[in-house]
Amino acid sequence: MDSSKWIDVTTEKNHYSLDHFVIPTHYEEDVSSILIPHGVIMDRVDKLARLIVEEATGPLVVCCILKGGHQYFADLVNAVKKLTNKDGKTIPLSLEFIRVKSYKNDKSEGVTMSITDEECNEFKGKNLLIVEDIIDTGATMVQLLKKLETFSPKSVKVTSLLIKKTPKSNGYIPDYVGFSIPDEFVVGYALDYNEYFRDLDHICVISEHGKKAYAV
Ligand code: 5GP
Repeated sequence: MDSSKWIDVTTEKNHYSLDHFVIPTHYEEDVSSILIPHGVIMDRVDKLARLIVEEATGPLVVCCILKGGHQYFADLVNAVKKLTNKDGKTIPLSLEFIRVKSYKNDKSEGVTMSITDEECNEFKGKNLLIVEDIIDTGATMVQLLKKLETFSPKSVKVTSLLIKKTPKSNGYIPDYVGFSIPDEFVVGYALDYNEYFRDLDHICVISEHGKKAYAV
């Protein structure tokens, strides 16, 4: 993967000990290490916002992919709002929230979206910015983009805070990526495990204890 596009935190030395940062006591046994401290996430979000504003050619429809993407979306939109492009102009934003579920059956792969085709027709001729929390295999995003293209937007760009380094990847790479992470299950900063860990600020690797404690 092209490491100049993101911060690589895939190696063992990138894991911080739980002793080095504050985490909620109720999760102390449920995560094995801290991969990205909250402060680093916030500083990276500022930079991604700057890149997005520099390359924006007009108003943006910023689409939050629920639920995991909501914290990144909120912090990114906040940062973008404060910035101006090369001409000293702020970027007009409108916000959209889409819950996406991917499916696979024996004939096809696809996604279902929580917004109707009628609502999607509003995307025609607009510049879309899709905000996702994590790309794992890439399957969900590839299918989502295929579907969105049918509504004739002017442009579609994608930002994902995280991309997983995994042999299961279909090769899809978003336009703006925060960090590449190892092939492990991460939680925190709104990324959940069965709805838990949304109240954890740092991005952490879940422990075996955590997987068992919150299994359904
Ligand atoms: P993909 O279609 O790229 O394989 O899957 C993307 C979705 O899988 C993400 O939007 C996210 O909901 C979920 N996912 C993949 N890896 C992780 C992970 O490490 N942690 C969490 N919390 N969700 C993940």
